[in-house]
Amino acid sequence: MSKVKVIPCSGIGKVFGLMARETALCVTNQLAPYTSETVCLAHVVTGDDLAKEKVQGRSCITIDGCPALCAAKSVADTGGIVKEKYRVVDEMRHHRGKNAGTGTSLTEDGWQIVDEFASKISLKVAEIIKEDEDNG
Ligand code: SF4
Repeated sequence: MSKVKVIPCSGIGKVFGLMARETALCVTNQLAPYTSETVCLAHVVTGDDLAKEKVQGRSCITIDGCPALCAAKSVADTGGIVKEKYRVVDEMRHHRGKNAGTGTSLTEDGWQIVDEFASKISLKVAEIIKEDEDNG
């Protein structure tokens, strides 16, 4: 079984970028450590051999901060199969009026949003693993 790659964008200095990274870590380290793993987007973009090998032809989930979709585009350009593209900006629509924090630290609300988002994504990981297994 190949682990699903969960790859966040590199939005530095923006709360949505921080949330994307924390969500990916929550999925891959806590909620689905045996079925998912993350890959450094910078390595994907710069063509690092190991990163390319992990992504090419593999099921990936990307988590972008904003509609620029840097992770989704880079992973697809590298040959990853992007099964789902998430955007923090969309997730925040379910939490209108909440202050998630800053580019360097999350508030309690911000962490709660990350936890919920990560739970949703870990269900998607399980779905993709099953699909991949069914498809041999
Ligand atoms: S998707 Fe948006 S937040 Fe993330 S790296 Fe690109 S521009 Fe920055």
